[in-house]
Amino acid sequence: MKVIEKYNDSLHNPYWKYQLGKEAYEVKDTPQRVESIKKSLHSDERFDFITAKQFPDRLITQLHPYHDYIRNTALTLNNDEEEFYPDLFPGEGAHLKKRDDSPLWGGIWCTDAVTPIKRKTYEVARASAESALTGAELISQGQEKTVYALCRPSGHHAGPRVFGGYCYFNNVATAAQYLLAKGKVAIVDIDYHHGNGTQEFFDDIKSIFTASIHGDPEDEYPYFWGYAEETGKGQAEGTNHNEPLAKGTQLKEYSKALKRILKKIKAFNPAFLIIAAGFDTHETDPIGSFKIRTEDYETIGKQFKSLDLPTLVCQEGGYNTDVLGECVKHFLIGLM
Ligand SMILES: [Zn+2]
Repeated sequence: MKVIEKYNDSLHNPYWKYQLGKEAYEVKDTPQRVESIKKSLHSDERFDFITAKQFPDRLITQLHPYHDYIRNTALTLNNDEEEFYPDLFPGEGAHLKKRDDSPLWGGIWCTDAVTPIKRKTYEVARASAESALTGAELISQGQEKTVYALCRPSGHHAGPRVFGGYCYFNNVATAAQYLLAKGKVAIVDIDYHHGNGTQEFFDDIKSIFTASIHGDPEDEYPYFWGYAEETGKGQAEGTNHNEPLAKGTQLKEYSKALKRILKKIKAFNPAFLIIAAGFDTHETDPIGSFKIRTEDYETIGKQFKSLDLPTLVCQEGGYNTDVLGECVKHFLIGLM
């Protein structure tokens, strides 16, 4: 299986810590996450590493109105340690004139103050999206049946209006838009957190089916999205399916929920499948609360394989670097 990587810079390492009631959360999107994955896949000759290609700006800018803001803000930073966070969030209903994309207006482009822009952020986010595009190109040309794009930063919380949640450009949405020229696309998000950005991108587009299986947003990020009643809008009603699951979910319940999603995808009959693959569902993940074991990911991969579709897997979350690489490997082996 081809593994696509590009530019994983040690200088993009956002760190976020907060306390909610009695619970403390800590998220480190470190370069060690990528190292953990590479170490596991390098040791197995079934995986063949290739470098992502460059793609025209247009493929990224057409989806992300905040592209210039991220690029321009990164350019204003003087050193690699500096981080920029906006401090003004005007909110819905504000009179938003077209701005000059000065960092000062950053709050109109993002949902939170935990997704910093650092000097290398634009480069790594761009490379992450280009890894997904390279994978999309390979499956669309029929050269490969299943490919894995080792994306970092993740993308699934970045939407058509705003970015956030450690995501800058939505990698799976960028790949889906590319593939759409050749046929209908189904996207399944298996990260512990609902793929709100991806859902919002395609909420009213009936040729893309989106689904997400995640911790219940009643008490998990992103809180405002990911409920079962979100089923698509207007002409695209019925093309979104959410499976919010309870804390402590184990493989048995998880697989049943996934089966419901796969049944809908079969009925939708897409030409391509994209999996937004996060592994913060693992039983030892520091922020997730599911109880999926390392070897369970192979079973989950096999479930997806039963669809028998050209498949692009894009990396999303997963924060226990002791097991992340092995989780990815088991999942990809299940898909083979
Ligand atoms: Zn996540």
